[in-house]
Amino acid sequence: MSFKDLHLIKPILKAVEASGYIAPTLVQQRAIPFILDRKDVIVSAQTGTGKTAAFALPILQNLFDKQDAPKKGKKIKALILSPTRELAIQIQKNFNTYAEFTNLTSLVVFGGASIEPQIDVLKKGIDILVATPGRLLDLHKQDYINLDYVETLVLDEADLMLDMGFIDDVKKIERLCPNDKQSLLFSATIPDKIEDLATSILKTPERIDV
Ligand code: AMP
Repeated sequence: MSFKDLHLIKPILKAVEASGYIAPTLVQQRAIPFILDRKDVIVSAQTGTGKTAAFALPILQNLFDKQDAPKKGKKIKALILSPTRELAIQIQKNFNTYAEFTNLTSLVVFGGASIEPQIDVLKKGIDILVATPGRLLDLHKQDYINLDYVETLVLDEADLMLDMGFIDDVKKIERLCPNDKQSLLFSATIPDKIEDLATSILKTPERIDV
């Protein structure tokens, strides 16, 4: 199977080619069609399987299809939650690379770093926000983040978020997003507590195990 077979559009295919990817990985083959279709998905996949591109590519494509005029103030339309700053930075780097041939912009926010530069970029407006839960709630409380326009929410490494005690924050953030959003849950393992989280957040999800 090729990336073209996944019905990815030119600006996304160009970025995939520029990244040197020859063919989609298994998780990409399975997840991309559902995500393009705006289905909720629960994916059990380890790091290293290409799971970041599995959600980043279709999210960018769905946003590109209905991209605002460049001058309009940008609203956060995709929100990706990550348990650690290192992973959050990595995810945003990926979005940045794959968005090269679009006008879509992204930002990463995490705790333990100065909040001012993050606020400056938020004020200008971005399409995609990658965040650790604590800093996100902090910025939201201070009114620098509006989640009313979120179309897709991604919980990455959900099992780690559980282990690190972020589940209540994650649930709080999910409730700040619109009800009719698309939700995607990625986790290396799916213990009972992740099943419960999936049941409370996802709507008739597709299941993918790789
Ligand atoms: P991830 O599982 O998202 O952490 O990705 C692991 C690594 O695989 C990253 O360095 C990606 O750049 C790379 N990668 C993602 N998709 C592909 C692909 N289709 N072909 C080759 N490498 C890929």
